[in-house]
Amino acid sequence: MTTPRVSTLTSLDDWLDLQARTAIPSAMWIDGAWDQASGRALPLISPRDGSVIANVTSADAADVDRAVQSARRTFERGSWSLLEPRQRGEVLLRWADLLDEHRDELALLLALEMGKPVTVAWNVELRTTINTIRWYGELVDKLYDESPRGRNGALALVTREPLGVVGAITPWNFPMTLAMFKIPAALAAGNSVVVKPATQTPLSLLRAAELSALAGLPAGVLQVVTGSGSVVGSALALHDDVATLTFTGSTEVGKKLLTYAGESNAKPVSLELGGKSPNIVFPDAPDLDKAAATAAWAISFNSGQMCTAGSRLVVHEEIRDDFVARVVKHLEAHVIGDPLDPATTMGPLAYAVHRDDVVDEIRKGIADGATLVMGSDEKRDDGLYVSPAVFTDVDPGSRLAQHEIFGPVLSVLTFSTEEEAIAIANNSDYGLGSAIWTADLSRAHRLSREIDAGLVWVNCYEEGDSSVPFGGHKLSGHGADRSVHGLEKYTSLKTTWINIEGAS
Ligand code: NAP
Ligand code: MG
Repeated sequence: MTTPRVSTLTSLDDWLDLQARTAIPSAMWIDGAWDQASGRALPLISPRDGSVIANVTSADAADVDRAVQSARRTFERGSWSLLEPRQRGEVLLRWADLLDEHRDELALLLALEMGKPVTVAWNVELRTTINTIRWYGELVDKLYDESPRGRNGALALVTREPLGVVGAITPWNFPMTLAMFKIPAALAAGNSVVVKPATQTPLSLLRAAELSALAGLPAGVLQVVTGSGSVVGSALALHDDVATLTFTGSTEVGKKLLTYAGESNAKPVSLELGGKSPNIVFPDAPDLDKAAATAAWAISFNSGQMCTAGSRLVVHEEIRDDFVARVVKHLEAHVIGDPLDPATTMGPLAYAVHRDDVVDEIRKGIADGATLVMGSDEKRDDGLYVSPAVFTDVDPGSRLAQHEIFGPVLSVLTFSTEEEAIAIANNSDYGLGSAIWTADLSRAHRLSREIDAGLVWVNCYEEGDSSVPFGGHKLSGHGADRSVHGLEKYTSLKTTWINIEGAS
């Protein structure tokens, strides 16, 4: 199958027409079928225009238990866990193909549920999602177990075994990509999965789960349960039959999950959490305009709702004014508007309370004495849009420099020496992304060793690939997603000793 390079839908009318023809999922996906639970439903409000786009099931602990039991039964039956790895891979590859075939519809759901521009949903979020599934589908029969040569007379086999039921809890900012950093890896390893998407963004994942059945995934291997984190998420995290939890979201909730694990079956928990990533620019950056365009992108892509957002621009004092002027110019070029319009580059924030929080942070930044050189602390009257905001004269210890805002708000800090740049970069509870712009290879290498972060980009930002781990240090979490390492948390090591001397 050849992948079309761009969507054939090229105008707002095309997308509105697709919306009129698209069935919006609302039930949960349990045991290979739509499941209405006990009939409770909550309206899902689109940040696009405030309209109710679906009434989505709001589950309770009994519903979660039903989904977990279905996943457990399926795992124990072995209809997935005992398949040949190659057969599991073929199902994942078919699933990726089906998602690709339904890319317009999924991009539409993403735009409606969280306000992501359709162009970005189509070209970035779904491309990454589909690639990730394909990558694990292709990997699964190319892995080897180990047989260490420790002792004569006995053979040791070290194998990786699936765990059983994997509980996944995911956020709203990349509803498909971040769930699919987890689900295909867990499935490739032979597990069953129960996933709880964010309250705001269940639609694209529900549709993807339905398509997994068409791809041949046996009923009960993948369940999507919907509802609030405090009820559904905690029930999943506290469940004794969930063998491991994999989470992407805030540090605050991540810490709660560790507690829930301790209160239940001591399940391992892997955490991809928040960030306040430093983007460090030296005067000798190979291309300052590219660095500025990238800095603008790093704080405004996905309306700044990105765990790896380059929210702290750490720029050498000699070039600050010129560099900030360039960043502002690039930010001004955004086309802010309707996420269903293919011309839009920046959509609304994902929901009203979050928009209010982001605007409030801009207000606090002004009150703290930083200088607002772009943007406003006034709410716009055309919806949940927030124009990019840029602050200079930010004190490294202040809220603007420390608190994750999760919106298009850039804090500019300055340095004069390399040591100072490192100190500012590491002056954070977080350690997710980081970037260094310099033509000096020794300096780039030195800094990349000294910055305490899971990801360091040199003369680029947000490079990533299915083959490369993605994860943070400190309060940004632990346990990487993606790559071969992404499989580790979904398996346990088993050692088998075979006495070969005494064998008859
Ligand atoms: P969040 O509030 O932590 O929510 C994430 C998920 O946890 C949602 O599904 C949420 O459900 C659920 N949840 C909430 N309370 C829970 C509880 N007590 N028990 C179990 N589950 C619970 O995060 P968010 O607001 O969706 O996303 C923003 C955060 O995610 C930011 O901090 C961002 O940096 C981080 N993030 C990190 C990465 C990464 O890869 N490191 C990527 C993207 C985002 P509800 O939706 O019902 O609340
Ligand atoms: Mg939240």
